[in-house]
Amino acid sequence: MTGASHDVDLFVIGAGSGGVRAARIAAGYGAKVMIAEEYRIGGTCVIRGCVPKKLLVYASRFSQEFEDAAGFGWTVPEPKFDWPTLIANKDKDIARLEAAYRGNLEKAGVEIVKSRAVIEDPNTIRLLQSGARVRAAHILVATGAWPHSGHPIPGIEHAISSNEAFHLPALPASVVIQGGGYIAVEFACIFAGLGSQVTLVYREENILRGFDDEVRSHLRGEMEARGIKIVLGQLVEAIEKDGAGYTAVLTDGRRVGADRVMFAVGRKPNVANLGLEAAGVTVAANGGIAVDRYSRTEAPHIFAVGDVTNRVNLTPVAIREGHAVADTLFGGRPTAVDHVHIPTAVFSDPEIGVIGLTETKARETLAQVDIYKANFRPLKATLSGNPSRMLMKLVVDAATDRVVGCHIVGEGAGEMIQLIGVAVRMGATKADFDATMAVHPTMAEELVTMRQPAARHYRAAAE
Ligand SMILES: Cc1cc2nc3c(=O)[nH]c(=O)nc-3n(C[C@H](O)[C@H](O)[C@H](O)COP(=O)(O)OP(=O)(O)OC[C@H]3O[C@@H](n4cnc5c(N)ncnc54)[C@H](O)[C@@H]3O)c2cc1C
Repeated sequence: MTGASHDVDLFVIGAGSGGVRAARIAAGYGAKVMIAEEYRIGGTCVIRGCVPKKLLVYASRFSQEFEDAAGFGWTVPEPKFDWPTLIANKDKDIARLEAAYRGNLEKAGVEIVKSRAVIEDPNTIRLLQSGARVRAAHILVATGAWPHSGHPIPGIEHAISSNEAFHLPALPASVVIQGGGYIAVEFACIFAGLGSQVTLVYREENILRGFDDEVRSHLRGEMEARGIKIVLGQLVEAIEKDGAGYTAVLTDGRRVGADRVMFAVGRKPNVANLGLEAAGVTVAANGGIAVDRYSRTEAPHIFAVGDVTNRVNLTPVAIREGHAVADTLFGGRPTAVDHVHIPTAVFSDPEIGVIGLTETKARETLAQVDIYKANFRPLKATLSGNPSRMLMKLVVDAATDRVVGCHIVGEGAGEMIQLIGVAVRMGATKADFDATMAVHPTMAEELVTMRQPAARHYRAAAE
């Protein structure tokens, strides 16, 4: 397939979720593919994102399980937690996964280069490790994103990001986390579950901006009930070294001491020093590489997928985008990725699963909205005594009866929303939910047994 003037049909920069999938599928179609990775195969998700995080989440939830067990007759001896064991076991599994990713690429015939790669001219990639140049017919930029620390403040060098949180030498007895997005919230719950005193500092009026307001309030209440201190409307304005620990100075002058200060205030697409300008690739207002529905940049033979495009920054989305690029270029099937109806989870404690419109968004965009709600203590709580409550909410377009949003807070929410996602994507109506037989006794059965709307928002015809 390679033209005379090219060394490869496709050069992929970055072996993360999107790059690995694109490389593997393209090679499967018979393309000659080279992929460059400057750090470790697998990218953020495998090495310092979803996977290690979920392992820490599992670890953190045992403390509650031990407490819950008593009501069921179990006597659990004083549990002891050992952070180095968790980190070592996590690292072992990440190494296994990385090897599996590498093996799959090699099996597909993809050439892997361990190097930073930059674009030198529209069809030339330079490998910084060796200085070698590779001529490519097509280039895929899949360089991901990197944590940023917000506006510059004194002492910012003392703050860790999620990257370092996975490799701390010891579990901090106390942590201040700045941020209110999903990564901040998840780490707050991880550290609290493992026994740290956690203070979450966020500048907005509530955590998890963009999520349904009731979901935000419900989770906040649950986190506070588990002992996490949530300080809203504030920023960490300075970090001072204080003996073995640190003091975070907040906007109102409050001083919060902690063993560690973590910032999780957002991630920036990795677009710098890549040679994008040399290739005629532009960056959009959101900081990500500008692409069309096919992930094609302004330069028609250069594509970009995943976090570097700053569209929907999730692993399955990057994977789908990478797969679509391979289909488009080498599979004879131009494929655009549909970014609506993306189910997603926050692995907080309790967990969140959501798809579709929030109540607020639905009211802004639809004329008639019905809200169905269930807020209950799960059956397990009757014996465990755990005061945690489950929230489930369906947002229905009353004009069509279609379920346009589903929001769940509670155990198993991530698992539930994956399946609800199929129904919502297929256009399921509230009547379909009602007609579906319940699975009893489960928590999920509440989703098909909500009879009366909790609220109706009907806009007057003249509006
Ligand atoms: C703490 C955390 C938790 C997360 N949890 C979840 C979750 O639960 N669910 C979910 O769906 N998503 C989660 N994400 C997001 C998810 O990890 C990303 O959306 C996903 O990894 C994006 O894939 P990507 O291919 O765009 O980039 P990445 O996976 O970041 O891969 C980019 C790769 O490119 C390499 N690279 C960069 N520049 C160059 C260069 N010039 N030359 C060579 N190599 C280069 C990098 O080293 C990296 O390996 C989480 C992220 C974080 C940080």
